[in-house]
Amino acid sequence: MKQGKFLSSYAFYGYNKSPDDKSKLVIDHEAAGIVKRIFEMRSEGLGRIEIAKILNTENILSPAMYKRSKNIIRPWNTPNQKVMWNDCAIGKILADERYTGKMICGKQIRKSVGSSKIRFLDKDEWIVVPDTHEAIISPELFQKVHTYTTNRRATYDPTNKPLRRLLYCGGCRHVLNRSSHTEIDRFRCKYTRFTGDCNCLQGSLTEDEIAEMLLNAIKTQIDIMADRSNKRTIGHANGFSLDGKVKKAKSNLEKHNNERFDIYKKFRAEKISQDQFQAKRNEITIKIEALEEEIVVLENQAQLRNAEDAVISQYRQYENFEVLNDEIIKTLIDKVYVYDKNHIEIIWKFTDGIKNVTLCEIDA
Ligand SMILES: [Zn+2]
Repeated sequence: MKQGKFLSSYAFYGYNKSPDDKSKLVIDHEAAGIVKRIFEMRSEGLGRIEIAKILNTENILSPAMYKRSKNIIRPWNTPNQKVMWNDCAIGKILADERYTGKMICGKQIRKSVGSSKIRFLDKDEWIVVPDTHEAIISPELFQKVHTYTTNRRATYDPTNKPLRRLLYCGGCRHVLNRSSHTEIDRFRCKYTRFTGDCNCLQGSLTEDEIAEMLLNAIKTQIDIMADRSNKRTIGHANGFSLDGKVKKAKSNLEKHNNERFDIYKKFRAEKISQDQFQAKRNEITIKIEALEEEIVVLENQAQLRNAEDAVISQYRQYENFEVLNDEIIKTLIDKVYVYDKNHIEIIWKFTDGIKNVTLCEIDA
């Protein structure tokens, strides 16, 4: 491994295995161009969600889809599911120092031979072999982006320690334990030791690392809410307003009630026979009953819609927020399950009728 030979069975996004020497990586120019653009966009200050949106708009295949499109031997295992670019996929690329031409191994080790438990090593314990393959981006660009990304204090306000009492282990569902020997909190699951549950969060994560995932997930959630709200506005403009339908049904109901009263007056004035009166009255009564039912349904829908509007506006008040702080977290989030440094699951507040779980996941 010290020679930096590439031993994994797949080259990573941006590279192919050399046809002459399977242990060597060569640049895949098509994907490498995308990698380069992602780093450049980030260095110009674009966020990960914005970058993902741009690539999706241009119909550029995400790494998973790209791999599928190139792989003619392996059958497509999930052919119907289109994997789009997302903030996690962008983040994974931006964090990957191998694009500067280095090979990095040993980020994690098994705790003992044959054990399924994994320990994540600190950065200074990693094995780094320089110049094992051609670089896609310069170390300077990586450094620039990396400084940008690690400069999280600009986007996260740790005053009041908003993450405390919010974080749970994705594996065993217990509250994460906090240690704060430094200014920055670290969270870990203490139950891994007792239960041997290998789904538990392994090692520890800093509040900054978790805050960054949260920041992205919240921005995505707010985008989703804004999108819903925009679609609704369009529907309204097209005349699909529920309030309008209720109003129309109510005015029809009034019309039929008047009509029913009119034929009764005619009958009393002996202008129509009893048979005629009863036939006409039954006909109108059926219409009235149908309208009354319709109004109940519509009013229920309107009530649900208003409740959903209230939820949406709770999220939209933070549209364009830049700094993740105590207030936003307390307002929007109920719980966060932490799986590892790339996976969290968020249980949102105000979730009546709205999908309330967001998973932040990186596809391999
Ligand atoms: Zn646990």
